[in-house]
Amino acid sequence: MIWKRHGRNGIVNRNSVVAEQNPVGWRFDNTYAQLPDVFFAPAKPVTVSSPRVVILNHRLAEELGLELNSISQEAAAALFAGQDLPSGSRPIAQAYAGHQFGNFTMLGDGRAILLGEHRSRSGQLVDIQLKGAGQTSYSRRGDGRAALGPMLREYIISEAMFALGIPTTRSLAVVTTGEPVYRETKLPGAILTRVAASHIRVGTFEYTAATQNETNLRILADYTIHRHYPELANSPSRYSDFLRAVVDRQAALIAQWLLVGFIHGVMNTDNMAISGESIDYGPCAFMNAYLPETVFSSIDRSGRYAYGNQPAIAQWNLTRFAETLIPLIAPEQEQAIAIATEILNEYPALFEQYRLAGMRTKLGLQNAETGDLELAQSLLRWMQKVGADFTKTFRDLSETALPIGDRYEDPDFQEWQSQWQHRLSRENRSNDVARAAMRGVNPAIIPRNHRVEEALAAVQDHNDLSVLQQLLAALASPYESRPDFERYQEAPSDDGGYRTFCGT
Ligand code: AMP
Ligand code: MG
Repeated sequence: MIWKRHGRNGIVNRNSVVAEQNPVGWRFDNTYAQLPDVFFAPAKPVTVSSPRVVILNHRLAEELGLELNSISQEAAAALFAGQDLPSGSRPIAQAYAGHQFGNFTMLGDGRAILLGEHRSRSGQLVDIQLKGAGQTSYSRRGDGRAALGPMLREYIISEAMFALGIPTTRSLAVVTTGEPVYRETKLPGAILTRVAASHIRVGTFEYTAATQNETNLRILADYTIHRHYPELANSPSRYSDFLRAVVDRQAALIAQWLLVGFIHGVMNTDNMAISGESIDYGPCAFMNAYLPETVFSSIDRSGRYAYGNQPAIAQWNLTRFAETLIPLIAPEQEQAIAIATEILNEYPALFEQYRLAGMRTKLGLQNAETGDLELAQSLLRWMQKVGADFTKTFRDLSETALPIGDRYEDPDFQEWQSQWQHRLSRENRSNDVARAAMRGVNPAIIPRNHRVEEALAAVQDHNDLSVLQQLLAALASPYESRPDFERYQEAPSDDGGYRTFCGT
């Protein structure tokens, strides 16, 4: 199905009159809102007493072709609190379902409102979503609100992921509402403006499949293919190609997560985007000491979403996704299942390929040799044995000389290092060149849990934004070691008790 284009305020008839009414330069298209009604419900951001800007992402605004400097702070606060809607927007809440910790539930945007899709400077359509803008038809018993801490946390982590080069939703703004939200304690209410390739999730497909309306399923699949995999649109086997492409992007994404020590924390099927972007930064956190069982989320008691479980969980989620596509893949159910199963079975090898390729670059290797996997694994085993910091170890290996007087004197490490040196000597580039390349893939700076908490505490307890600004500046160039950002490179002495919470 091809959606209509809104002429109103669209790119085609932008003129000086529109520019006056629309100084920020929004170019909304609202294609999702043209899908059948079952996919969404109209929504209206709640009126809030005194919106104030906490942070605006000027760099992202520029990429999107938005001119935030053309409006006052008050106007920006009203805009990003959903009080003054951008011209051409059409606010809705999206319907979706999802498997949460393995259990199927009907969900939907309970505390998020999609304003529509803005056409970015490069011509890409991006969702503009307000998270925490009040109740929608899908709020169930929730208040539809969000607290400042979790919204800033999402801002920090998503922008850090972007700077690391990992596909992710972005954060354009955080504003406070001037109204409290009540969780275990009374907290300042806030709204995050999230920018995403789309918010179509595995859970969106699960929702549609659950309605057992094949026409709508096909409409959703065609819409998603058109938006995220347009190269498949004319393929006679487009639905199985679509499945294969989604599997491929997820395999690549999860490998990237693992290569930087990222733990999503709540990989429910409603938190897996079909676009292949990382989405929904709730209880996520970065691992310090290398330990595959690492879990930070307070609600993940069984370790379902532990660091090392993420590849298998992604496959589980992709299997739920594949199930929804069965009616489209082939006319005969048996045949469709056989095709989908074959595609899903390719996932483990695909993931391992992406991970190994990433590990090679982390170790400065360009050529592929059969012993490379074992070389990488034996380094990880050593890290686990001595409790070495994952990020710091790879960064240390990337520097010209390792720090002395450290655990690197361990004979097991020394033996590994001599094997690695041998392996590097079979590369057709010098060690210096290899190490320079390693510094481009092994981050010096990640959003360390203690630094994130420190920045959030300064905002919440002292109204001090400077710590947050410093942290964001450091995270914006993660592959540079700068003396003034040294404190962001340090691993915490102990994070054994660190716990994260869902952003509700
Ligand atoms: P999440 O844990 O953020 O992925 O959210 C899971 C589901 O709960 C989604 O459907 C959310 O929209 C909904 N939800 C989370 N927090 C709230 C809230 N404060 N009010 C209403 N719905 C919420
Ligand atoms: Mg979610």
